[in-house]
Amino acid sequence: MATENNNPEWGFGTKAVHAGQRPDPVTGAVTVPVYQTSTYQQDAVGQDRGYEYSRTANPTRSALELSIAALEGANFGRAFASGMAAEDTILRLLDPGDHVIMGNDAYGGTFRLISKVLTRFGISYSSTNLSNPDEVKAAFKDKTKMIWAETPTNPLLSVVDIELLATLSHDKEALLVVDNTFATPYLQKPLLLGADLVIHSATKYLGGHSDVVGGFVATNNPEIDEELAFLQNAVGAVPAPWDCYLLLRGIKTLGVRMDRHCDNAEKIVEFLSNHNKVKEVLYPGLDTHPTFPIAEKQMERYGGMISFTVNGGEKEARGIAQGTKIFTLAESLGAVESLIEIPAAMTHLSTEGSPLEVDKSLIRLSVGIETVNDLISDLDQAMS
Ligand SMILES: *Cc1c(COP(=O)(O)O)cnc(C)c1O
Repeated sequence: MATENNNPEWGFGTKAVHAGQRPDPVTGAVTVPVYQTSTYQQDAVGQDRGYEYSRTANPTRSALELSIAALEGANFGRAFASGMAAEDTILRLLDPGDHVIMGNDAYGGTFRLISKVLTRFGISYSSTNLSNPDEVKAAFKDKTKMIWAETPTNPLLSVVDIELLATLSHDKEALLVVDNTFATPYLQKPLLLGADLVIHSATKYLGGHSDVVGGFVATNNPEIDEELAFLQNAVGAVPAPWDCYLLLRGIKTLGVRMDRHCDNAEKIVEFLSNHNKVKEVLYPGLDTHPTFPIAEKQMERYGGMISFTVNGGEKEARGIAQGTKIFTLAESLGAVESLIEIPAAMTHLSTEGSPLEVDKSLIRLSVGIETVNDLISDLDQAMS
């Protein structure tokens, strides 16, 4: 059974290994078992032992929920079948007529969910540059109930000021939701900076091995959590016990992996910055990035994602993306293996022709945990 087993004084590494995960009281099993069960015996009519049906709650999922909540510094956490399922559940906190402010470079799936699905249920939205407080203030309407922020953003890796957005949204009694997928709680803790909810695509760094799809929501507000628990059960987009186990397994090494992702990314940024075919390198930790002062204030380190443009344009960019041998040409991010992609033609194809259209010569890297000299040699040969 899941127990809190959390000590707020613990460091990140200790929480990642132990929070929510005590050896099984029945057998002593050190690893939280995969409770592959849909239902639970009741001791008397209406008298269960904390679990009655696995859509409502499952012990493997409870352990995962306690684990990620502890890492985010949250009192409450809810796991979902995907990042999008988590987002959908948060957005169901809204009522018809309500308005959402989102970043103008939000994750494509978030934009699709709000603009193509939620609008059918009477939700309206504005997309704006969340790094510009005046634009955010101007975007508020009478019925604005939520700001949806992502930081760092994708694929331009801009950092938005969570503390400032929290102040702006709370002035207007709106909730601030922060998508912490790119940074992870190892590098940034939005709730401690004033956000009301944190959402994750656990598919990325939390899982970290490209083998599971999952989502997560954390909050410190008991009323919001109660509503989320109701929706989680009522809507039912919950993760399977096996997926929860895979995520728990991934999370144990989150801190170790993130340090290596950051170490490798920093060296690759240096390599790219000195390469004559590279026009511009975008990395939140580069002091030339316009949002560097905010990044320095709210992040521990700057993550494993790098974007860069090349002088030779679209053709050269595609050649590089197709010419690597260790970097795999693929969408997604955040796992142990390095990936390379062309956002304009892959993850961000849907922005074509819109004001958010991405430079066709932009290459995005998700830097993995391989030996960094091999990664640099691989990029070097693909670029020559
Ligand atoms: C991948 C991703 C999502 C969606 O998560 P899924 O697990 O794919 O449903 C949401 N936000 C960000 C920033 C992402 O990268």
